Amino acid sequence: MTITIVGAGLGGLALARVLHVKGIDAVVYEREPSREARGQGGMLDIHSGQQALREAGLIDEFFAIARGEGQDMRLLEPDGTLLLQEDTPDDAPLARPEVDRADLRDLLLNSLPEDVVRWGHAFESAGDGLVHFADGSSASYDLLVGADGAQSRVRALLTDARPEHLGQNVVEVGIPDIDRTHPDLAAMVGRGNYWVLGEGKSLSAQRNGDGRVRIGLSFYNTGEDWLAGSGIPFDDPAGARARLIELLAGWDPRFTALIAACDDTVMPRSLTTLPIGLTWPSKPDVTLVGDAAHLMPPVGEGANMALIDGALLGLALAAHPGDFPAAVGEYESEMFERTGAAARMSAKMQELLMSPDAARRLLAFFQPG
Ligand SMILES: Cc1cc2nc3c(=O)[nH]c(=O)nc-3n(C[C@H](O)[C@H](O)[C@H](O)COP(=O)(O)OP(=O)(O)OC[C@H]3O[C@@H](n4cnc5c(N)ncnc54)[C@H](O)[C@@H]3O)c2cc1C
Repeated sequence: MTITIVGAGLGGLALARVLHVKGIDAVVYEREPSREARGQGGMLDIHSGQQALREAGLIDEFFAIARGEGQDMRLLEPDGTLLLQEDTPDDAPLARPEVDRADLRDLLLNSLPEDVVRWGHAFESAGDGLVHFADGSSASYDLLVGADGAQSRVRALLTDARPEHLGQNVVEVGIPDIDRTHPDLAAMVGRGNYWVLGEGKSLSAQRNGDGRVRIGLSFYNTGEDWLAGSGIPFDDPAGARARLIELLAGWDPRFTALIAACDDTVMPRSLTTLPIGLTWPSKPDVTLVGDAAHLMPPVGEGANMALIDGALLGLALAAHPGDFPAAVGEYESEMFERTGAAARMSAKMQELLMSPDAARRLLAFFQPG
């Protein structure tokens, strides 16, 4: 009985790892040509997902790579008013530590036998127990698990639902080696998350383990083609920085200084989500984990849910040896409920971030009463 997983992201790897711990074989097909092929992006806030890492037997290794000080937070308004500063004591529990996405993925990859992940296999289609890849090769399956992220192609085997634009466009930039190159800005941002929330715009800066500060500029209530018409020349980094500074007209100069200090990496992102509470009639031989199943606004739940999905599907398969329909049914009914609740919560947080008085509302969220 062959378990075929498409996608070596957090969800697919958590599933492969829990199956491995339970002595069940699986193969993961990943479209990237190697584990180093693509930068994995910034930090993740891992809270409920710790449960999955416990099931995967990796919780101690996780705490060894987690950055407790990444829980620090500063919240400001565009005129420079500091609304909230939370610094994490050294002995604080690691309730919501930040971890570099690349470190977490490496932890999962290193916990699997070498031949479990087959790189350079881009899934194209499946049917009659065979998956077909872009290079013309194919492989058989008894259970196919789509762990292929936001733009999942496996999803179409279960539902017609497609991600829709969230009304948020993000431009990612960053300052490398900030402690050496810009110590004043390093002190301003601090050790964790730094948020400036304005009307229709936000700046979020986040210190990564490698000394880089990643900065995301979000433009809210904007449409799918906003980036194309924004006047940001993405092929001219200096021009892009200048235009971003223009778009923050009226903001305190300390914030625009952050943009001026960035290097030449300028990455546009147009954000999409799946309908909240998406379900589908269960099929015995196909299911989904992670963003493929429940892409939600990026407010700190997606990676946690992907890890839990992978771990719980692995446990369900171990609890029903050889009975894929029973395992898939059990997994999906729990997953639909849990991730539906997370998606509703994420949508509420997203609505708050998009509101005109986002900074004050977020302050009230963190300091109720
Ligand atoms: C800017 C940003 C910040 C975020 N911060 C957080 C956070 O702090 N906390 C949190 O919980 N979540 C966060 N998220 C959400 C989180 O990143 C995702 O929910 C999570 O990565 C989903 O994991 P996944 O395994 O489902 O998909 P992914 O991690 O996207 O992995 C999918 C894998 O499938 C592969 N793949 C895709 N198509 C194919 C194909 N056709 N064939 C083969 N392989 C394929 C991809 O190459 C990739 O390796 C953030 C998201 C963004 C955009």
